[in-house]
Amino acid sequence: MIRIDRGPWREMVNHAQAVYPNECCGAMIGAIDGDQKTVSHAIALDNVSAGSQAARYELRPEDLLRADREARGRKLDLIGIYHSHPDCGAYFSETDLKNSCPWYSFVVLSIQNGRFDHANSWLPNAEQTQAEKEELIWPES
Ligand SMILES: [Zn+2]
Repeated sequence: MIRIDRGPWREMVNHAQAVYPNECCGAMIGAIDGDQKTVSHAIALDNVSAGSQAARYELRPEDLLRADREARGRKLDLIGIYHSHPDCGAYFSETDLKNSCPWYSFVVLSIQNGRFDHANSWLPNAEQTQAEKEELIWPES
């Protein structure tokens, strides 16, 4: 189960809406207690995909390392990565699966006509062949 606090949730939704119709991406930081994860910070990262950013995202590995260092500096963990799907559902695509890492939660925000619509969190398996839906709790409004 992954719960996202109000502050980071607002930042994630604002980020996704701001870059629409492109995809946004970022890191989620917080505390992990067994299978309970609480996201307390979101870090917006650049989408450096060289092709169309409307259909894919790409992170700089050094940006992710920086987010990981920031998490450790706060005595927290890098819980996962978020990205948006402009005008399509919050499913986990083949490309998402191919670029995934099994130890992170992947939150996908569906943005329809520039506004947040819904979100899902995904847990990819080690073989990157399948992703299981994880219970996701976000604050209302
Ligand atoms: Zn995606």
